[in-house]
Amino acid sequence: MNKLVVTPALIACLVSLAGAPELPDDPEPRVVTPGSNPGMASPPSDAVVLFDGTSVDQWTTPEGKSAGWKAEGKRGGAMTIVPGSGSVISKKKFNDAQVHVEFCEPDPGPPGKDQPTGQARGNSGVYIQGRYEVQVLDSFKSSTYPDGQCAAIYKKHAPLVNACRPPGEWQTYDIVFHAPRFDGTGKKTANARITVLHNGVLVQDNADVDGATGFAPDTNESPGAGPIYLQDHTNPVKYRNIWVRELDGK
Ligand code: MG
Repeated sequence: MNKLVVTPALIACLVSLAGAPELPDDPEPRVVTPGSNPGMASPPSDAVVLFDGTSVDQWTTPEGKSAGWKAEGKRGGAMTIVPGSGSVISKKKFNDAQVHVEFCEPDPGPPGKDQPTGQARGNSGVYIQGRYEVQVLDSFKSSTYPDGQCAAIYKKHAPLVNACRPPGEWQTYDIVFHAPRFDGTGKKTANARITVLHNGVLVQDNADVDGATGFAPDTNESPGAGPIYLQDHTNPVKYRNIWVRELDGK
């Protein structure tokens, strides 16, 4: 009698007979400890500075009102999300761009049942063109669904590795963004592309982004420039040293 040989094809066949399997979640990205914190560098000479610590003048609410976040009022200082004051959006809009953002996660408090976990832990987000969220979250020794953790392109791409620093330490995002392309009729011909270095570690490598991410204020992909949007997810995350280099030949 022939022996039953278990092959991947047989397993796939048995699984399909048992009904459509759930797609597996992304595996948990492995942890990489970033190098020592270099501190804050000043922006390059051709950067558009969106926040230097002095004021939130370059930002409004999405409705165009004054931003409710608190700036320290000195060069090199931070601005802190005032929970519930609303998200903020840059007055200036961008096409292809190199974006630098620094952020600092709030103290989650003493370990225990009251300590926030998962998506409740220092949640914010950097949305390029108001459409594509690079997740900001405290994922240092804290897990959630991998494509929703810090440095994920929310619900589309988990980060390649978890390069988080602990809460209370400054962290950096260096993002290279290529906007989607459209033909003369307005039909999209190429998806957005996003590369992210988190604390100097590559976490998104020219990722293909097939549309706006969930909860984006603008879900309508279209030609033309868009703002940077920083999310008030009701957690007091701090930001500092935000600048953009335009990559579209200006
Ligand atoms: Mg978020």
